[in-house]
Amino acid sequence: MTFGPCCDVAWGIHRDVTLSDGALLIDRRGLETLFQALGSQGYTVIAPTVRDGAIVYDEVDGIEELPAGVTDIQQPGSYRLSTRDDGALFGYAVGPHSWKKYLFRSEAVVFRARLDAERGFVPSEAGEPAATRYAFVGVRACEVAAIEVQDRVFLEGSHRERDYESRRDGAFVIAVQCGEPGGTCFCVSMHTGPRAESGFDLALTELVDAQLHEFVVEVGSARGGAIMASVPSRPAQSRDLGAARAVSDRAASRMGRTMESDGLPQRLAELLEHPQWDDVASRCLSCTNCTLVCPTCFCSSVEDTTDLTGTEAIRTRRWDSCFTLDHSYIHGGSVRASTRDQYRQWLTHKLSTWVDQFGTSGCVGCGRCITWCPVGIDLTAEVAALLAPAD
Ligand code: SF4
Ligand code: SF4
Repeated sequence: MTFGPCCDVAWGIHRDVTLSDGALLIDRRGLETLFQALGSQGYTVIAPTVRDGAIVYDEVDGIEELPAGVTDIQQPGSYRLSTRDDGALFGYAVGPHSWKKYLFRSEAVVFRARLDAERGFVPSEAGEPAATRYAFVGVRACEVAAIEVQDRVFLEGSHRERDYESRRDGAFVIAVQCGEPGGTCFCVSMHTGPRAESGFDLALTELVDAQLHEFVVEVGSARGGAIMASVPSRPAQSRDLGAARAVSDRAASRMGRTMESDGLPQRLAELLEHPQWDDVASRCLSCTNCTLVCPTCFCSSVEDTTDLTGTEAIRTRRWDSCFTLDHSYIHGGSVRASTRDQYRQWLTHKLSTWVDQFGTSGCVGCGRCITWCPVGIDLTAEVAALLAPAD
């Protein structure tokens, strides 16, 4: 299972980075200066913050809005916040939001058209060009991988998603190397984490204990290096690099879940009539939660409306889900009318046919679909049941 490096994209010269590669060290004041430098260069800074009992991604003005001393406890169908006594700013796993919220918006105007007396409806503007340049702070390795998956879907091939492209173009990515995987995480199984090795402008590893609170900074692009020139820092020493490696090693050894991913696309393709599909269908509510929280799911529908005077038409794209009847409706009815068929489509697309389509898995092991499923369906458990030898 591979995820392509995004070294050749227009929005930044990202490169593979190793920890010994000119890493820097900053303290909390340095992190605050980094936020200010991003703001002064015209970026809107989006970072984790606490709202409604969850860690969400939102616009922030400074590091005081980060979830200091907060962690999360995640299990199938369960999420709650808790406190930690070390004041860590990134001491939690991923929450219900992903960066797709900003890059592939839940609703976007594709085009507007005005009625012209002689020419009929004439397009008046093409969509809504993004005016905002984002700096995403706190992007986890699985999320860097998820963005690269959506890059393949929306930017490669003959049809480019213009709204996505305009938002992705220029987005500044600051990864945070995971130190606290969640109870539903399995990025190690999907080879997407817990360390991000490329696809970022900067990557931070938080080092925090009773005596110190610092961040090892890996520079992944020229513009990442340029912005660090305005941030007080010193070269990271070998003990800092060792401590950063230990953070990632510890995270890798504490995954909440595992999933057998070797040969999975081919094996699943042979299990389309397995009785486990009926079993999971008896529990699944077809609620669509798993697809909405998933950072790679991209299904959408298109709706055309006119205003009351009938002189303006708007085409809008909205997130959709393979769990809705309308999504597979063609003349005469829905192709996937049963929950069994919908769940099977979702899981086999993620883990099998996505590879045929895009050359990567559609799953990066973030665990969101497990945590936010109201009945706690766990795709790692479903895959294990599907692959288990017959009695
Ligand atoms: S299928 Fe589930 S675990 Fe995989 S990327 Fe989507 S939400 Fe994350
Ligand atoms: S698997 Fe869970 S989250 Fe997904 S549609 Fe079924 S009940 Fe909803």
